Amino acid sequence: MYSFVLKRSDLREQDQIVTLYTLEKGKVDALARGVKKILSKNSAYLLPVFLIDAEVLSGKEVNHLTKAVPVFVYKNILEDLSKMSLLQTVFKWVNILTKYEREPKIFLLIKSWLEFLDATDKVETALAYGFLGNILTHLGFAPELDNCIFCQNKNNLVAFYPAGGGVVCKNCFLLKRQADNKIYPLRAIDLQAMSLLFASNWQKILSHNTEIANRLVFLYGQYHSERKLNKIKLF
Ligand SMILES: [Zn+2]
Repeated sequence: MYSFVLKRSDLREQDQIVTLYTLEKGKVDALARGVKKILSKNSAYLLPVFLIDAEVLSGKEVNHLTKAVPVFVYKNILEDLSKMSLLQTVFKWVNILTKYEREPKIFLLIKSWLEFLDATDKVETALAYGFLGNILTHLGFAPELDNCIFCQNKNNLVAFYPAGGGVVCKNCFLLKRQADNKIYPLRAIDLQAMSLLFASNWQKILSHNTEIANRLVFLYGQYHSERKLNKIKLF
């Protein structure tokens, strides 16, 4: 089945557990035996830059990865350290945020993001934050960005409250900010950028992002994640 390799963890001397994101079954863990042997025919393609066709046999206790055939290599990502570091961070986020459930939309989101990253000449962290926003939306965690989460006011939206799940109007911000310092001010341009980060195509995200919007999407993702999300390090 078509898969991306999210993670590999050492198990025994020659074996690894490989975490795949598959089109058919969503996230799957599989035992890859002998994968660390130098000439292992599977290991060469168990990298995040490959779309692979993986053969996974369900066992009594564990699944076994018996074959990994390359379908496509994202060559421009492989040859660019900045692109690689965005990809590695994003795959860690996918692994943290997703459960072991079938979710073809997530597979397609990963695929479209990799295709864009492979083709673009502009490598910016906004691309990773845009992926984060979009995956949160697909997982059912889209924030409220149109109405104040306290009073439903549509106007004067001046702040974002990650723990409250959305934007806050000026009146409510003045009332609440002393009680909770985790309500963050934002400008109209940041709000616009945020709505793109949560639901838009990659090109628009690249053209209209702001640092504040990027940071708020990260804080929001962090709030909805049970584990700490890795920070982006761009080379
Ligand atoms: Zn309000």
